Amino acid sequence: MATGKINVSVENIFPLIKKFLYSDHEIFLRELVSNATDATLKLKHLTSIGEASVEYGNPIIEIKVDKEGEKIHIIDQGVGMTKEEVEKYINDIAFSGAEEFLDKYKDSAKDSGIIGHFGLGFYSAFMVAEKVEIITKSYTDAPAARWTCDGSPNFTLEEAEKETRGTEIVLHVAEDSTEFLEESRIEELLSKYNKFMPIPIKFGTRTE
Ligand code: ADP
Ligand code: MG
Repeated sequence: MATGKINVSVENIFPLIKKFLYSDHEIFLRELVSNATDATLKLKHLTSIGEASVEYGNPIIEIKVDKEGEKIHIIDQGVGMTKEEVEKYINDIAFSGAEEFLDKYKDSAKDSGIIGHFGLGFYSAFMVAEKVEIITKSYTDAPAARWTCDGSPNFTLEEAEKETRGTEIVLHVAEDSTEFLEESRIEELLSKYNKFMPIPIKFGTRTE
């Protein structure tokens, strides 16, 4: 297992994200579903140009709420990430985006639209989660990877067991965000933000 400290000059960025965007915690789902959608459409493109020699099939995005375990799972069947890609896209890029965001919007971060704009999309997960896991398997032959982060700049990254291609994001929901463990709340967010999405979303018994 590799452990390390994410390279970021702001010591602990998550409390800041949380504070600035306090009223918009609910956008985490929109951001994570949009990443899952992007990853699926990337795979569609790669298979259509012959870059990925896998069956595209009829992929869906699945959202599961584990009320007892206080977890939310967002699962896609998209391109996935190798361990190196997690390093690059999750540890490096997103945090540089976070720094830029903080520099520019320290005093005025009210509009939630900017969070995605600065590549902070994934990190919005920490607005509702005390710990986030990524379990992911690339469409290439690379082994699966598992990343965890508890909201400090410290992360873990190791090889993992995952048979199927794609990414599973596990949110360990924080004490102050248990409202998102209610099915009705998730349903509400899906119909608010994810109504006309190109990849079907399965939640509970519904596929929309
Ligand atoms: P953005 O979507 O604007 O690039 P994010 O912070 O939302 O920024 O995501 C950062 C990067 O992490 C993405 O560009 C992508 O490379 C990677 N990523 C995030 N979620 C997934 C996913 N579900 N599957 C594959 N890659 C992902
Ligand atoms: Mg995104």
